[in-house]
Amino acid sequence: MNTQPKASHFIDGDYVEDTAGELIEVIYPATGAVIATLHAATPAILEQALASAQRAQKEWAAWSPTERGRVLRRAAQIMRERNHDLSVLETYDTGKPYQETSVVDATSGADSLEYFGGLIASVTGEHIPLGEDFVYTRREPLGVCVGIGAWNYPTQIACWKGAPALACGNAMIFKPSETTPLCALKVAEILHEAGAPAGVYNVVQGYGAVGASLITDARVDKVSLTGSVPTGRKVYAAAADGVRHVTMELGGKSPLVIFDDADLENAVSGAILGNFYSSGQVCSNGTRVFVQKGIKDAFLKRLAERLADVKMGDPQDPEVNFGPMVSERQRDIVEGFIAKGQEEGATLVTGGQRVDGDGFFLQPTVFADVTDDMTIATDEIFGPVMSVLDFETEEEALRRANDTAFGLAAGVFTSDLTRAHRMAAGFEAGTCYINTYNDAPVEAPFGGSKLSGVGRENSKAAIEHYSQIKGVYVRMGDLEAPF
Ligand code: NDP
Repeated sequence: MNTQPKASHFIDGDYVEDTAGELIEVIYPATGAVIATLHAATPAILEQALASAQRAQKEWAAWSPTERGRVLRRAAQIMRERNHDLSVLETYDTGKPYQETSVVDATSGADSLEYFGGLIASVTGEHIPLGEDFVYTRREPLGVCVGIGAWNYPTQIACWKGAPALACGNAMIFKPSETTPLCALKVAEILHEAGAPAGVYNVVQGYGAVGASLITDARVDKVSLTGSVPTGRKVYAAAADGVRHVTMELGGKSPLVIFDDADLENAVSGAILGNFYSSGQVCSNGTRVFVQKGIKDAFLKRLAERLADVKMGDPQDPEVNFGPMVSERQRDIVEGFIAKGQEEGATLVTGGQRVDGDGFFLQPTVFADVTDDMTIATDEIFGPVMSVLDFETEEEALRRANDTAFGLAAGVFTSDLTRAHRMAAGFEAGTCYINTYNDAPVEAPFGGSKLSGVGRENSKAAIEHYSQIKGVYVRMGDLEAPF
């Protein structure tokens, strides 16, 4: 596959280039080879993107919601038809195995386009009677939205932000992470092929500085970030200057609580899905696995057996189920955490080693006997490192699960129905799972509480974050005034 895009940016319905921008080398994480070279957006490119988005938004917002929805649904269909090629590209961009990308990335992006494309025509205002007078509400777009993405789900993030934004009549300027800049360009291409007017969905490349300069432009009305908490703080603060709307999808250190009465095989599956999918580079991962003492030995034994079935290798091989880390830098960071875990006295059950070769592979790693204060239990690692912590009672598990500044996700495995719902109600997290982990269907809200974020993506809730309500007061009779 030719992984070099026609040009670095997609603006006003077409690819554009400005080679004066800083060089971005795209590296295939499985081999370390450079697979594309791009350039960061220059001020001239950003100006083009902002001007075209502002102009196109007015035209787009004047379309009926049904017409806008039709474009999104057509784009969803094109994405599904091209799922194979898009998945191969996503695998080159991120290093995630094709076995995952072929069922998760473009498909989840298409779900989002289809869902919001179908929903938007039924999003209406309300009529509020006030005797003879009345108020009606109009749900209006915000204007120009900036999306800034992390590197773990480039296609999905480009769609999860783009689909509700466009459905509501906004235009979007999306800046992917410079680590994975390829896939969002395809999303832009497809949306325009499906009939979106030029300028409605633009992609500009760049490092953090590009995102930072977009956020503070007076033409921007909303910023939606998927990234780490430190970046979130900066972006939130910068957006506050212009009192802009924000959605913050940030990091986590989520708990996964496994009770003695859980189905062992399902609990192990949940822990695997919540720690090792995408080589552990998932924001909602349940990396603090609290295991009740009675099931701990059986859990660790079965987990080690199942991890023996991991198949590492060329991520484009459909048989491979575990890919490299996204970058050398990310692997180094995760290795630092593994060393810290050993230094601080956790028991290394399995893994912990990098794999020889040019790619950025790291073995799936499990630590047991982890205590709440160890660095591997407090900090987001964003790699394939599971920490297993022991507990005895439900009350203790919930208290310790919530004892974190993050609040993205939480999960519980138990066969006790009422306990499962008690735990879900008690978790301080935006997304909770009972006897499963890490599902993210477009129909359900996704997002964090506490430091993990503000706002929700997906579901009807996302409409609230990409539109605003205007109230229109209508007086039917004469108007009295004091003088
Ligand atoms: P970063 O926070 O490093 O970067 C996120 C994006 O923000 C990148 O595009 C980055 O550009 C950009 N950026 C960095 N600094 C600024 C700035 N000052 N102003 C504007 N934009 C800026 O996150 P990662 O890409 O490393 O992704 C990993 C993080 O993302 C983890 O913490 C993870 O939990 C979180 N995440 C959250 C998800 C959620 O839905 N809650 C989902 C997926 C990931 P550049 O890369 O060029 O620096």
